[in-house]
Amino acid sequence: CGVFGIYAPNQEVARLTYYGLYALQHRGQESAGIAVSDGHNIALHKGMGLVSEVFSDQDVVSLKGKMAIGHVRYSTTGSSLLANAQPLVVHYQKGMMALAHNGNLTNALELREELGKNGAVFQTTIDSEVIINLVTRYRRDSLEDALVKTMMDLRGGYALVILAEDRLFGIRDPHGVRPLCIGKMGDRYCLASESCALDTIGAEFVRDVEPGEIVVIDEEGLHSRPGLAKVEHAFCAFEYIYFARPDSTIDQLNVSESRRRMGIELARECPIEADLVMAVPDSGTASALGYATALGIPFGEGLIKNRYVGRTFIQPTQAMREVGVRLKLNANTSVLKDKRVVMIDDSIVRGTTSSKLVEMVKNAGAKEVHFLISSPPVAYPCFYGIDTAEREKLIANQFDVEGIREFVGADSLHYISEEGLLRALGTTTVCLACFNGTYPIPISSLKQGKNNF
Ligand code: 5GP
Ligand code: SF4
Ligand code: MG
Repeated sequence: CGVFGIYAPNQEVARLTYYGLYALQHRGQESAGIAVSDGHNIALHKGMGLVSEVFSDQDVVSLKGKMAIGHVRYSTTGSSLLANAQPLVVHYQKGMMALAHNGNLTNALELREELGKNGAVFQTTIDSEVIINLVTRYRRDSLEDALVKTMMDLRGGYALVILAEDRLFGIRDPHGVRPLCIGKMGDRYCLASESCALDTIGAEFVRDVEPGEIVVIDEEGLHSRPGLAKVEHAFCAFEYIYFARPDSTIDQLNVSESRRRMGIELARECPIEADLVMAVPDSGTASALGYATALGIPFGEGLIKNRYVGRTFIQPTQAMREVGVRLKLNANTSVLKDKRVVMIDDSIVRGTTSSKLVEMVKNAGAKEVHFLISSPPVAYPCFYGIDTAEREKLIANQFDVEGIREFVGADSLHYISEEGLLRALGTTTVCLACFNGTYPIPISSLKQGKNNF
């Protein structure tokens, strides 16, 4: 998911949020929503589909206030329903509050049961509702105290934006699994999952929200409140590999640059004598350029992407996913004919896309297809907010590398090593759980395998 928040009285906060969400559309395409507050009342508009489908100009104009938050969703918990769209807005004894959440809690089920025993009712199946319930329940005097208490209960990955009273809050979990950054426009501040959203609205990048930090944005500007102590930083490596937009910079590393370096590492680990290096666009492009440049092999557009089709994995059923691949990518015969090709993609998850692509490239006349992947094999599910499929569906959970090579039909297959990936990222403090099964945050016993309520 993607989140955005802005505090800017006298500006069109809903419109700025709309543009911010537009820039974060790649992070979720199932639903979109914006909540706007005048300091007391909160107005909400949300719906299923893309930002452009959910909001008419009139919808945006009619949302008036001095601060706003927004959300684009793809489901990791809860099904694809309007009730599960965010932001969530509640009335409670102290007024109104709105919350938008990117990430996934690992103990949501326990918390939900606990809250349920105490009489809480739920209108959605998403774990974000658990968070808002905890905040309202802990709220006595200070809202900040309630937020800290809530954070003490939460396990998992979360980046939150919250509208409450006349303030906007941004919170990042103590491992910093999901991204959240701060931007500035004149003397006003905003929050976004990725810096590309700041660029879009003309805000300047200030810094990332620190793991465990609570930032408060109000009439006086930006304040930092101690939330929870930062623990070992475990930023999601998959954000760099695949999820985030290449023009975003997260934790001081530009995403496109990180991918280019993954390509250079691949060239070091697996130099292949080939006539052409090509990418599976878009997430494989920067790595393929890095690889091609490092080895002095021409880069070409072997696959052309239909830019009007979204991310295929976001289609919930397998059948739809397969149609989605053909709709989305087509082989470029004139580039591929009689060539020995190195094809680079960011990941193999289920293997269905990849086998179709290898077949397409071969049918277009490629003599050899060497498939290079800029992530290690994805063999474990993610419980922190990325939909990498259930364990049984992960092809790397069923086969070894040779088995996967055979399944996808490539002449050779090489995955970047964990060491190569870490070198490319220039850090060791990232989460690699979906590759090596070492989960930095414990997974609840109630939540085995299936990433759903
Ligand atoms: P596959 O061959 O596993 O079907 O698809 C691999 C390609 O689709 C990669 O380009 C990857 O970016 C994308 N992809 C497909 N399914 C998923 C998924 O469930 N999660 C993520 N993160 N990426 C996926
Ligand atoms: Fe990211 Fe993988 Fe960790 Fe999930 S398990 S947070 S996808 S690195
Ligand atoms: Mg891809």
